[in-house]
Amino acid sequence: MSNEFKRSAALSRISPSATIAITQKARDLRAAGRSDILSLSIGEPDFNTPEHVCEAARGAMAAGQTKYPPVSGVPALKEAIAAKFSRENGLRYSLSEVVVGSGAKQVIANAMLATLNPGDEVLIPTPYWVSYPQLTQLCGATPVFVETHAKDGFLLQPEALERAITPRTRWLFLNSPSNPSGAVIDAASLAAIGDVLLRHPHVWVLSDDIYEHLTYGDTPYVTLAQVRPELRERVLTVNGVSKAYAMTGWRIGYAGGPAPLIKAIELVQSQLTGGACSIAQWAAAAALSGPQEFVAMCRESFRARCDRVVDALERVPGMTCAKPDGAFYVFPSCASFIGRKAPSGNVIHSDEDFVRELLDHTGVAVVHGSAFGSAGHFRVSYAASTDVLADACKRIHLFCEAVR
Ligand code: PMP
Ligand code: GLU
Repeated sequence: MSNEFKRSAALSRISPSATIAITQKARDLRAAGRSDILSLSIGEPDFNTPEHVCEAARGAMAAGQTKYPPVSGVPALKEAIAAKFSRENGLRYSLSEVVVGSGAKQVIANAMLATLNPGDEVLIPTPYWVSYPQLTQLCGATPVFVETHAKDGFLLQPEALERAITPRTRWLFLNSPSNPSGAVIDAASLAAIGDVLLRHPHVWVLSDDIYEHLTYGDTPYVTLAQVRPELRERVLTVNGVSKAYAMTGWRIGYAGGPAPLIKAIELVQSQLTGGACSIAQWAAAAALSGPQEFVAMCRESFRARCDRVVDALERVPGMTCAKPDGAFYVFPSCASFIGRKAPSGNVIHSDEDFVRELLDHTGVAVVHGSAFGSAGHFRVSYAASTDVLADACKRIHLFCEAVR
């Protein structure tokens, strides 16, 4: 028998996260001596975790909170999560309706593993966060993409949703503010989406609210279970501490939802990880329950950076960059550069070529739009210092001017 390495059928259905792959490429180039690399490819705040949160982790270690935690989360954190949902979203979840995982990513993966079967369809509005279709495919289900357009502010249109629903539809993913477009849905538009869903009781909704606190426009933040409480029994409201509290490395995400689904997620988690890191859970509890000034400070800082980046990219001849209402990404169009020659002499055939040539020529790492299901765009994460952003925008400008 051959000892050749063989991948499982499940693994052959997925590919690496494009955001992580490009960020790793930027790291490798830097390690190989390219000191000019500017990485705007990963979505993570550039702030340090607040000191009182780090202190809570040190306190948890000193107090011996270093044993296996309960699978669904330590009660103190689950209480802090229930209080957060009530305080900020008007959602009342009991502790049996709350679960903690190792990042929102794992909570989403658990939910998909707990519910999907081959043949099931999952509706994913484009542009989408890279992991939604991948996790769907890992479970053997089929992602069904519902296009949104720049002219509609990249918001899901109720008619497009209605058309995409079939008897096999199991889930709809919603993500506001959106990664990568930064679009934020308003209460009336979300209610209209909710009305469509009320007509299709077999469709469940995963509302990914991880960028909740990063909104810059006048639109107040709303989530589906709040706007359409009638849907509460089939909505999983996912959130986490990664983006709001600069805690990406602590790996804590959470969700509120109906008890049977939460129980199913807990069952998956009991076999996969046994629960999230106990020390990080105590830190997350401090983040959610402690002073919230940090969140407002980050928002103002990102808002100022967003303005600068949009302003700089809008000045690039041939580029259009809409001003997003939330998250920390801009999603400009690079369509006018496709079919033309990069400074290297290579023809740019796609957005993927555009970002590759940009990285090789200028050292600026960004992510191609097709990784998010929207070709002809690219994503810039502006969670970097203003100096880095100014330098990167200048390099993008010079590169685009040199495209013939
Ligand atoms: N959802 C979206 C839309 C994201 O951009 C991210 C970022 N990684 C996540 C979920 C997962 O976040 P985490 O696993 O760090 O909680
Ligand atoms: N969500 C972040 C991003 O989109 C982190 C990377 C990832 O988990 O894919 O860049």
